[in-house]
Amino acid sequence: MRLTDVPTAQQAALFPDASRPERPLLFRDLQEIQDRLLTWWGEPPAPREVWDPLTQLIYSLCSSRTKDAESQATILALRERFGGWPSGPNSWDEVRWERLRDASVAEIEDTLRLATFPDRKAVQLKRTLERITERVGSLSLAFLAKYRTDKVRAWIEELPGAGVKASAAVVNFSSLRRRAIAIDGHHQRIAIRLGIAPANATARQVEATLVPLTPVGWTAITMDEHHTLVKKLGQRVCSLREAHCTRCPLREVCLTGSAAATSRS
Ligand code: SF4
Repeated sequence: MRLTDVPTAQQAALFPDASRPERPLLFRDLQEIQDRLLTWWGEPPAPREVWDPLTQLIYSLCSSRTKDAESQATILALRERFGGWPSGPNSWDEVRWERLRDASVAEIEDTLRLATFPDRKAVQLKRTLERITERVGSLSLAFLAKYRTDKVRAWIEELPGAGVKASAAVVNFSSLRRRAIAIDGHHQRIAIRLGIAPANATARQVEATLVPLTPVGWTAITMDEHHTLVKKLGQRVCSLREAHCTRCPLREVCLTGSAAATSRS
């Protein structure tokens, strides 16, 4: 059964008021989207290398508006230069970020040169690590494991430069491994084109709309995989510049894709 078959009152209950779509959706839940994407790509995403929450936060702050390859190279460069040991740590478990916190902004900016906006991010990163140290008494986010998910997200979002996407990434991608969907620009754009969220929906509203559409059995890892699959679609098929609907695996359940097909026929 498609969501178009679900009575309007039931559909309304699925959505928070602020992000309710203007028209009925063409699919029942995100499993249908997930199945189509998995079939299309032919395999699930490679398992994520899971880091501690602090390392994930550092990565998220550096990676905004930066391609994945450059983001990966940037976190490796930070680890190499400031990771805590004279010769660099052997594994992510051994990384200590105090030297990054105590480095000059110029040194940090130099190490961030592969990322976008290295000057702004260097200031932000140093301020964030100093703020954590002031609030916690040491540079660690391990204590977050004892907090409820909503409290973790609020705590992260009070840090300089950390918004809803960074808090979702820390909660979902790191060793905390809780349920959340990180909404990047690709995911936001595709949710709007699918008709899940209205055209002006923020990342927070898109996430608030998507989470009730996840099947009960979805774990944190399933949500992470969903994020990766949708992001890949945004990079290769449904880009900012052009939506290639005729070769998209979601065209039959996408309001934009179906409207395009109707206008062609
Ligand atoms: S059908 Fe078109 S608009 Fe919809 S997700 Fe695919 S490429 Fe994007």
